[in-house]
Amino acid sequence: MNVRVDLDQFLLSIPENVTLVAATKYVGSDEILKLVNHRIFNIGENRVDSFLLKYSQLQNNGIIWHFIGHLQRNKAKLVANKIDFLHSLDSVELAIKLNELRSVPLKCFIEVSINNEENKNGISLENLDHFIEEIKPLKNIQIVGLMMMTLKGSSEEQQYKQFNKLKLLLDEINKKHNLSLKELSMGMSDDYKKAIDAGSTYIRLGRILFSE
Ligand SMILES: *Cc1c(COP(=O)(O)O)cnc(C)c1O
Repeated sequence: MNVRVDLDQFLLSIPENVTLVAATKYVGSDEILKLVNHRIFNIGENRVDSFLLKYSQLQNNGIIWHFIGHLQRNKAKLVANKIDFLHSLDSVELAIKLNELRSVPLKCFIEVSINNEENKNGISLENLDHFIEEIKPLKNIQIVGLMMMTLKGSSEEQQYKQFNKLKLLLDEINKKHNLSLKELSMGMSDDYKKAIDAGSTYIRLGRILFSE
């Protein structure tokens, strides 16, 4: 896949207060460099091995590195001090590990299983309060907000409802835990418009940035 030819035109449709994180699992470092040339500096990878390869090839290009996929605890060491954001914090054990490994605080989104799907990553709604209390004391874990994915096959109306649920949850936990989290990582190629309508601040776009 290649960066779409009308990328600049497409970027004009994204509101300025929304950060576009390019999900680059579909392409190699050469195409990522093209994104950088279009001033897309937020790059998201979802696998440790491909992240490490691309990081080694591209690290001095002003890129802000986002890890957006599930991160296994036993691989945390490999990426801990190379990434700028983790979008998928989903266990206390991972948080403790990263807290130990990091030399400066890591910006993290808590991945929430908003639909309480079984066998999916993310903190369930019922465990969220407890999770927040457990990670609060960790000095090198800086929670910036919440992250989610919608159910596959959702209608636009259902997408909006799910995104809005996360938005309301953010407000609720800010009150409950005396926090001021501001960021919502939500929206992918198929649903980012509804995510933006619901208040997303970080959209993670892959396929829509590229063409065959
Ligand atoms: C691939 C990926 C995306 C982007 O998905 P598209 O449907 O290609 O836009 C977003 N978030 C995560 C975690 C991903 O792995």
